[in-house]
Amino acid sequence: MLPTPERLEKVRDEFFRIRWEGGHVSEYSFRTLRQECRCAGCRDEFTGRRILDPESVPADLKAGKATLVGNYAVAFQFSDGHGSGIYTFEALRALCPCCAPKA
Ligand SMILES: [Zn+2]
Ligand SMILES: [Zn+2]
Repeated sequence: MLPTPERLEKVRDEFFRIRWEGGHVSEYSFRTLRQECRCAGCRDEFTGRRILDPESVPADLKAGKATLVGNYAVAFQFSDGHGSGIYTFEALRALCPCCAPKA
């Protein structure tokens, strides 16, 4: 079953919070989301290799806008001008910081 958000919420300008069906809550910093951008400019479509240097993402990055794409994804317009990344709910669920395996 695909993860389904029950509620999407911007917390000030710094965090994006998703409450998933079933009650789990994920909180992402926009900087992390920006670093994980899957668009062709940030990540190689074929190998999945990251092209974007994560350190080049400003520490104070904010998101101006989060838009639902159909009923399967969210598109973020980031304050550094980048806005071509689409994050599927599935990808977002997998990125949940509290669930991600610790490196
Ligand atoms: Zn990108
Ligand atoms: Zn989690």
